[in-house]
Amino acid sequence: MKILIVLSFVQVLGAANTATAAWRTSAPEVLVCLDRIAQASTSTTYLAQSEASKLLARAAVQLAWVHGSRCQSGAAIQVHLTVQTPDNLMPGALAICQPAARHDIRVFYDRVQSIVSPAHEPHLLAYVLVHEIVHILEGEARHSPTGIMKAQWTPEDYAAIAAGKLTFAPEDIELVRNGMIDRQARLTASAQKPRTETVR
Ligand SMILES: [Zn+2]
Repeated sequence: MKILIVLSFVQVLGAANTATAAWRTSAPEVLVCLDRIAQASTSTTYLAQSEASKLLARAAVQLAWVHGSRCQSGAAIQVHLTVQTPDNLMPGALAICQPAARHDIRVFYDRVQSIVSPAHEPHLLAYVLVHEIVHILEGEARHSPTGIMKAQWTPEDYAAIAAGKLTFAPEDIELVRNGMIDRQARLTASAQKPRTETVR
């Protein structure tokens, strides 16, 4: 099986804040918006979203998949599934994001389709989504030596993905929690900024 790399562009963003003991019960929902495209069936995206939610729940992250006007929220992570990916665009990558700069994810859906059977598309799409969402929540593009946040999944990892058994490295649980505290602080500060200025 071809080994592909899930890449992200990023710069390190700040240091993690002190974690709070109450995090697991007080963590806000993470809003995520998924663009629908004809090439991805409703059942595939539904299953992928459901599996991604369950995987992230293991890291104490509660996803809320939103639609319509709620996607306009500055707090929502935007997921774009794209096809006809040029061969010379990030060769080998299944998805990209820029966690330090933007809150959107681009999944090269044609590449996902090209390496697994239709039956396994939801699993791989779920793991690709989780990998990129974690980059955004951690606020940087670091990778871990094992698990979902590896820079390059091996054939064994792909087998674990197909079985729904690839997990997070322990450090990612901590980094996600700290990153979400930082992110929530930024979102709160942004929401409190005046949206218009009056010139006198
Ligand atoms: Zn990555």
